[in-house]
Amino acid sequence: MNQEHTSRPVVGIDLGTTNSAIGYIRGGKPKLIAATNGQSLLPSVVLIDPKGTVIVGQNAKDALVAMPDRSIAAVKRKMGSNEEIVLAGQTFTPEEISAFILKEMKRRADELYGEGEIEAVITVPAYFTDEQRRATKRAGELAGFMVERIINEPTAAALSFGLDHLQEDGNFLVYDLGGGTFDVSIVEMFSGVLEVKASSGDRMLGGEDFDWRLVNWFAEQILAEHGIDPRLDIRGKAMLKEEAERVKIALSTENTVSVSLPLVTVKDNHPVGLAVEVTRSQFVALIEDLIAQTMERMSEVIKDAELSVKDIDEVLLVGGSTRIPLVRDTISALLGIVPRSDVHPDEAVALGAAVQAGLKSGLLSESGLIATDVAPFSMGIAVLAEKSGGRTRPGEFSPIIGRNTVIPVTRSQKFYTSALGQTAVAIEVYQGEHEWVKYNHRLGEFMMEGIPENWKGQEAVEVTFRYNLNGILEVTARSVSSGEEMSITLQDALNRNNRREFEESVQRLQELWENVPQASEDDENLEDASLFDPEDWDLLSDIPGDLDELDENWDVSEDDEAPTMLHEDGKLLMQQARKTLAGMESGQQAKLIDTIQELEQALQEEDVDKLKHVMERVTDLLIDAEF
Ligand code: AMP
Repeated sequence: MNQEHTSRPVVGIDLGTTNSAIGYIRGGKPKLIAATNGQSLLPSVVLIDPKGTVIVGQNAKDALVAMPDRSIAAVKRKMGSNEEIVLAGQTFTPEEISAFILKEMKRRADELYGEGEIEAVITVPAYFTDEQRRATKRAGELAGFMVERIINEPTAAALSFGLDHLQEDGNFLVYDLGGGTFDVSIVEMFSGVLEVKASSGDRMLGGEDFDWRLVNWFAEQILAEHGIDPRLDIRGKAMLKEEAERVKIALSTENTVSVSLPLVTVKDNHPVGLAVEVTRSQFVALIEDLIAQTMERMSEVIKDAELSVKDIDEVLLVGGSTRIPLVRDTISALLGIVPRSDVHPDEAVALGAAVQAGLKSGLLSESGLIATDVAPFSMGIAVLAEKSGGRTRPGEFSPIIGRNTVIPVTRSQKFYTSALGQTAVAIEVYQGEHEWVKYNHRLGEFMMEGIPENWKGQEAVEVTFRYNLNGILEVTARSVSSGEEMSITLQDALNRNNRREFEESVQRLQELWENVPQASEDDENLEDASLFDPEDWDLLSDIPGDLDELDENWDVSEDDEAPTMLHEDGKLLMQQARKTLAGMESGQQAKLIDTIQELEQALQEEDVDKLKHVMERVTDLLIDAEF
């Protein structure tokens, strides 16, 4: 634990799947930095609007339905992968998208401290692989932070709790069920020292999955009644997803919730909607197998920590999905402990990251609190398996650092040449628990050369794994007899970590970011951009067909602003028409549907006269509908 005082400010960031937050230390306590609108939690959603403005937060979240190809949520699930994310026709890596979220955090920190160098502690799920940690670190750097530490989310949660309960020695179980990920850890607290004993989780399990279960349930009702699958309509699917989350959240406090969506999709030019009641027990039936999976993980982690249920003293619930009563009830029933209610499920991780930041900056060095962490996976190399009769088989996993080893840690192991005169050996590094490497996660590979020629099995290569507090691994191989040495930090081994690419990415993101300076949910300029008035977004969501596509043939950069204005007005009118349509009796809708389609077509073409003409007709119909 580094407790030196630094002159640079240090902040703690929870880069969440659903929401993110940033914290700092004030008056010896962790606090979240709120946006100017007073909100501390920032939805982890990024939108590039048709004007090219990058928007992060609630407004971006609201646009998920209306502009699915311009917005992205839950990018954390893709971190560490090479998946390309296409947003508004541009390609991004998951870490670049995360960098936009972190840029918004940086803006908040700059407002507090003034623009300048700021160090950050960023949290990740305990089971994040090495690559996912590196991607998170790079995202922070792309956003302009100096990333001081990557810490595990359950450790952060325990830190925020631990600061207020320094005298309470015991074993804490941290159950963290967020939007996209599940994490469960056992943390021991003894005289101010927090030690993560064991961690486990599932990076593909969270509140989003509960939403999708409900979406499927909704879709099946529509399919049965109307013979059309709304999930095939990108906008209909997004609308059901939004409704599913609303229903899920409401069912945490209510027993029955009504769904009334007049227009989910369109069949034979007629709107298809959904009107249904959902009860809490129906919802429970939809998700209980997923909750049961988390309970299995919880039992495993208790075993991994070499404890039994009766050794658990406190349960800390973290993550928005722990508000679901089924979660709390199932844990209470299994462990016989009522979870603590003084831990804020949305804020604990960011507050804990701030505590870690405070320990680093020296602001909390008097607290006596110290945290240790564990390696979430075994790490080792591929070796030849010796079979009976001297036969060998490649690809056996030889772990060097075991799962749940306290970090930082350095471990070495010797391996021997497997052929006569062998002068080089490939060091293939893997992470995982399977005895065969092909079932584990490959981290990298390098060639160790310069081994003196000798008989088979006579030359030793010592392989050393150093795993640091950020969960980043350095591997060294040394020929014992020649002293020749090769090493890689897996952080540097990645293609994308290439300096030039990194700088290019920083510049590209900055240019996009500066398109409109205040690119955040509290951006007042947004209100001026009539198309994106948040008030109208629920109207936008009712429009089948893609509004953005309507811009394609329209030269919005023309000096002559009139056609552009007309085009924007046309789009607004279409929103209005769709809203009116949704509230009309089904027998009266046909005419308006036809005219809306004509309007859609006119918007796609560069024909100002036609557009004016159709707009007049739509306006007339809307006036008629009013009376
Ligand atoms: P987090 O990733 O911790 O921000 O958690 C976000 C997840 O929690 C999302 O899937 C939300 O839908 C879910 N969530 C938030 N509040 C509630 C609630 N009251 N009941 C059920 N789920 C909730």
